[in-house]
Amino acid sequence: MQSPHSVDDRSPQTIFASARATGLRSLDEPAGKQLLAAFGLTIPASRVVHDRRDLDRLEATLRAPYVLKVVSSDVLHKSDVGGVVVGLQCAADVARELEQMRSALQARGLRAERWLVEEMAPPGLEFVIGGTADPEFGPMLMAGLGGVFVEVLKDVAFRICPIARIDALEMLAELRGAALLHGARGRAAVDVEVIVDALLKVGGAGGVLMTCAADVAEVDINPLIIGAAGAVAVDARFILRERA
Ligand code: ADP
Ligand code: MG
Repeated sequence: MQSPHSVDDRSPQTIFASARATGLRSLDEPAGKQLLAAFGLTIPASRVVHDRRDLDRLEATLRAPYVLKVVSSDVLHKSDVGGVVVGLQCAADVARELEQMRSALQARGLRAERWLVEEMAPPGLEFVIGGTADPEFGPMLMAGLGGVFVEVLKDVAFRICPIARIDALEMLAELRGAALLHGARGRAAVDVEVIVDALLKVGGAGGVLMTCAADVAEVDINPLIIGAAGAVAVDARFILRERA
């Protein structure tokens, strides 16, 4: 995993400014993850590539297995268009999948010029953290369990930011699926403090949503994978606010 302060860190202001300079209304996934890392969240170690030549020495710098994802402003939900492949064992596998993905996406008329190759997060419980800018109350934090809990059951909790530790704990307790956090259905229990910490980094006083309120219309960290060694944000989608 990547430390929160690696050499290619850019400040939040720089990240938003360069996205706006290219006319984008969103941050691409690498930029979104860089922003999360700047606030102390753990993201997978990764490399952005343009073609298979950029995969040189991949195995020496990133640990297999790998995930390959398309990075394109034409694609917001990557899995819907076959833009994510997990569990790749070596650089040759990544190269093969990259070429396949390139032709499949081009056949659908989708731009595909950059890819993100990243390490797989250790297995764990998929959690979702979201944020929106409420016209009346300002930044709002959302939390839920991943997969069907969010998508089908809409089992989520909301709070106005900034949240404190007690709010984070209450949000988790409110979830109908809360038992899963404590090891229901044969799963290992997760460390609730790890989730509380991530919620504070996003929705707390010095967190992403309060600090970047002028720029962020919406954020979706789906999923944050809660494993034995901590939480890893494996997807990040930021929609920018319109500038007045
Ligand atoms: P989408 O744009 O479709 O939401 P994601 O980046 O969320 O794409 O990837 C789809 C799924 O693949 C995730 O929900 C997660 O289960 C898995 N995944 C993605 N990246 C990783 C990773 N680095 N480690 C482990 N699993 C991952
Ligand atoms: Mg996702």
